[in-house]
Amino acid sequence: MSQVLPQYQHLRPLAVVSCSTPDDVANGLAWSRESGIHLTPRGGGHCFAGRSSTTGIVLDLGPMNDVSVHDGLATIGAGATLAEVYAGLDRHGLTLPAGCGPTVGIAGLTLGGGLGLLGRRYGLTSDRLRAAEVVLPDGRTVRCSDDLEPDLFWALRGAGGGQFGVVTALTFEPVPAEPTTRFLLTWPRVRAAEVLARWQEITPDAPDELSANLKISAREVTLFGAGAPDDFLDLAPATADVSTLPYLELKQSFDDLGDLEGQVTSRSHFFRRPIPADVLPDAPGQELNFTPMGGAYNRTRSTATAFVHRNERFLVEHVSTDADWVHRTWTALHEHSSGGVYPNFPDLFLEDPLRAYHGENLQRLQEIKRHYDPDGLLRFPQSL
Ligand SMILES: Cc1cc2nc3c(=O)[nH]c(=O)nc-3n(C[C@H](O)[C@H](O)[C@H](O)COP(=O)(O)OP(=O)(O)OC[C@H]3O[C@@H](n4cnc5c(N)ncnc54)[C@H](O)[C@@H]3O)c2cc1C
Repeated sequence: MSQVLPQYQHLRPLAVVSCSTPDDVANGLAWSRESGIHLTPRGGGHCFAGRSSTTGIVLDLGPMNDVSVHDGLATIGAGATLAEVYAGLDRHGLTLPAGCGPTVGIAGLTLGGGLGLLGRRYGLTSDRLRAAEVVLPDGRTVRCSDDLEPDLFWALRGAGGGQFGVVTALTFEPVPAEPTTRFLLTWPRVRAAEVLARWQEITPDAPDELSANLKISAREVTLFGAGAPDDFLDLAPATADVSTLPYLELKQSFDDLGDLEGQVTSRSHFFRRPIPADVLPDAPGQELNFTPMGGAYNRTRSTATAFVHRNERFLVEHVSTDADWVHRTWTALHEHSSGGVYPNFPDLFLEDPLRAYHGENLQRLQEIKRHYDPDGLLRFPQSL
């Protein structure tokens, strides 16, 4: 079974249903409906808020991890991890714009949006979704797309996992896996304000091919990603590693970039305006991660799919083993943010979480939730 984050490993489920078919999922849902025992689906198990852990029933989709390609479309079992997806698609010369963590589940990632190195070029992972197979809380298995159950299909693209039904398969329109320039540049920590100022100026409006992620840690400043990093080379980095690699290799080279081990707290927010350099927190032992938005992310209307965050310039994630530091720095930066929060980075400390995750799409999502899950079988703190 997939590995949940350390802070949720103490939660012991009453039962784990290992699902190989939609019928297994339907049986698990029936058991939950009849007994009233809480149930949650689990893909990669990487939810920051522990939503795929419960003391009730875990539906483990892990065995449903097939990746197949027919007529230009990729059908992926909901239990596949990103490593399995990238390897399976690469055999066909294809890939998806999706995240970096190899053990993250494709289902959880897609249902909440999906940010990654190819996102400024091709959009969210969920923007490439063309259809899904879903077992509904009442036990029926349906297929949804723009033409079939269109409201459900709209809601599955960005509202976050575990809300409307249990997805068993996802059909995507993949993109070519092309050799791509990879870069990793570093500067000493004292250069952080200067590099961040340049980063905020350049990356959100850069050509779609450039995806430059910035990490500020206690030790150093790291800029990594795909595309040509020329605008940063004249900032005299301490180290600069630039090379062209097959796309799968490039992706795998960023598998282990996080420095922080064990139980971390993470909070994040989106920004539409630059952050003034003087509010940049001092960060001993901690990480601030800056992810560029813009490009194809923002060329889809905010109401076209459930993912509402289409006018943002970047996302900032505060990560630390010291929860107090995270709360302090998040609060200091928050007044400069748009108030929007990425549903795949759930934050149990938000004052108005549903508005932060779903903005103007909230009311439509609540109506769809009432339609597909009228009894609230699928529920967790901050669910619709
Ligand atoms: C190490 C790490 C790296 C990450 N990197 C990125 C990144 O590069 N880009 C990015 O956008 N995000 C990233 N994330 C965040 C990630 O997108 C979310 O944590 C995501 O929800 C994880 O999905 P999962 O399937 O692994 O998790 P799970 O905990 O299994 O699922 C997440 C949620 O979806 C529900 N769910 C799972 N499977 C299904 C299903 N089949 N049907 C219905 N609901 C389901 C669960 O019940 C839960 O509510 C990262 C997270 C971690 C921990």
